[in-house]
Amino acid sequence: MKKSRMADGFKAFAGKEITNTTTPNTSNIPKAMDHSIESSRNIVQELLPANQYVGEHTSKNAIVLHHTAGGSADSSIAWWKQSSDRVGTHFIIDRDGTVKQVVPLTDWIYHLYVASKGNKIPARFKRIGSTYDKHTIGIELASYGPLTQKDGKFYNVYNKEVLAVEKLDKGHKGYIYYEAYTPAQIKSLKVLLESLMNVFGIPRQDHIEKIFDINDDALQQRPGIYTHVSYRTDKFDCYPSKALIEMLKSL
Ligand SMILES: [Zn+2]
Repeated sequence: MKKSRMADGFKAFAGKEITNTTTPNTSNIPKAMDHSIESSRNIVQELLPANQYVGEHTSKNAIVLHHTAGGSADSSIAWWKQSSDRVGTHFIIDRDGTVKQVVPLTDWIYHLYVASKGNKIPARFKRIGSTYDKHTIGIELASYGPLTQKDGKFYNVYNKEVLAVEKLDKGHKGYIYYEAYTPAQIKSLKVLLESLMNVFGIPRQDHIEKIFDINDDALQQRPGIYTHVSYRTDKFDCYPSKALIEMLKSL
């Protein structure tokens, strides 16, 4: 293992790293990948400084979708840059559909933190926490997440009014209103996913509705597309947006 600077928050499980017998083989580590993706797609490359992600080449067999619970993509990138935890995702998609890549696809960054204390999953999965980060590609959608209704208006956790609202038939993590992922985001995400699935040989699994809750396939490191809540009971992203589910089923 490469010498790496571990942030406090990750020391606990990084130190206990074990040899994982189910680690995907390394044959799909991309070579000219970053270049080919960049030139064939409209992706803005704004790589984080090299000490802000883990400079270790790993194979990838799954894609994990997130939302930032925040403002613009740039504000999230600025946050990642000032953090010493090497947190972030490979890609972030702004509300206008702009895709920014901040980590090379050969390398990895902490985006799941499965070992979180509040995460109610079996301990054996928590013990191999960083394995999930190493072998997955993370994509963030810039979005505020859960909203609270007050006098017919909708507010995010910063008490700022949000206009684009999706109402869920069934609540998700105790909320029925979320900031809607924009059509531009969904469209850009589709193009990006198709490209990544093709290059890495990642399939789209049959039961896509099941990725919005703890998912056994995700925890067993089976190839596929998942969300942060496929691995964490204490997260909100992504919520089961109708437009997102429909797009994923079309892949
Ligand atoms: Zn997340």
